[in-house]
Amino acid sequence: MSSVQYYRPTKIKINLKAIQQNIRNLQQHLTANVEIIAVVKANAYGHGDIEIAKVALQEGATALAVATLEEALHMREVFKDVPIIVLGIVLPNFVNEAISKEITLTTPSLHWLEQALHYKREGALKVHIKIDSGMGRIGIKSSEEMKQIASFQAHPEVDIDGAFTHFATADEADETYFLQQVQRFEQLIAYLRQKPRQIHVANTATALIKSSKYQFDAVRYGIAMYGLAASSYVAKHMPFALHPALSLTTMLTHVKQVQQGESIGYGASYCAPKTMYIGTLPIGYADGLLRNLSGQDVLINGKRMPIIGRICMDQCMVALDSAYEVGEQVTLLGTQQNNTIHIEEWAERLNTINYEIPCILTSRVPRIHEK
Ligand SMILES: *Cc1c(COP(=O)(O)O)cnc(C)c1O
Repeated sequence: MSSVQYYRPTKIKINLKAIQQNIRNLQQHLTANVEIIAVVKANAYGHGDIEIAKVALQEGATALAVATLEEALHMREVFKDVPIIVLGIVLPNFVNEAISKEITLTTPSLHWLEQALHYKREGALKVHIKIDSGMGRIGIKSSEEMKQIASFQAHPEVDIDGAFTHFATADEADETYFLQQVQRFEQLIAYLRQKPRQIHVANTATALIKSSKYQFDAVRYGIAMYGLAASSYVAKHMPFALHPALSLTTMLTHVKQVQQGESIGYGASYCAPKTMYIGTLPIGYADGLLRNLSGQDVLINGKRMPIIGRICMDQCMVALDSAYEVGEQVTLLGTQQNNTIHIEEWAERLNTINYEIPCILTSRVPRIHEK
């Protein structure tokens, strides 16, 4: 018997073999000895952080990166000896929680480091220095501040284990701004008295489509681990094929015939243009099927059929091409027979990027990991 019983048929399936393949392909592409930091923030981009991290570590990733201290502590409960870095800013008054669980923190400024040391009690504070080379988000920007940070390399209670930056345009064709960022980063790390153990600048786009010299000691592998391209430009220049891991499926829970002129859903906004079959799906905006996805196709019997009317909180309706039985399988994302609905299709409809889609699928939808 399976260990967990789900009553509702709406499920996210995560194909762990796809994740594995996406990591193996990166490894083939990387220069020898470049490490992989698996980026598993935001519940591994909605894919299930523990399971994804397990596969990433099995496949040779040497560290995990997250965005918050909560995420780091959650990882530490399962992964006792793996380096875990928080890429975002942890409030300095919480450094002791990080130190006691051996979590590496990001130093976004001299002020943060001074505050952290003020609050720090026992143990050494392990940090990676974040340099703002042009992303304009967090990090050190000036030579003066960098010089002062460098003096902490001699501090007995600070372990400056790494230095890193983040690119704003690595996924675009024009390299001008990217190269300016590289140059700025190199200028600033030159103030360090000795090279920290790990210099890392590459996100997925940089690791995959830029010169291997930007791999430095490690790459931060996010979106492509999940089988998604960092942008349409990156998709066109990929060194290997991506394997999307996520699919979203449900089933028809109700089917009826309606007459021409009958209305469907809130606002009675959809009016049947003819006698037709309507199916109801047990998925709605509280699952992440946002109301703006009305009109989006789903796959039934390998064919595309549109969501009609307003999407409700927990259910929505589709126009069927013929009568189907209750229990008929429905694919909202992924492949059914010879047809596929890609995450990018939802992203386009919602005027956003593929990254956002798995993140908006809420925790009410169970993630089922298939080996
Ligand atoms: C999220 C994040 C990454 C991963 O980005 P991808 O484009 O998914 O590879 C890398 N570095 C930092 C600082 C991040 O916040």
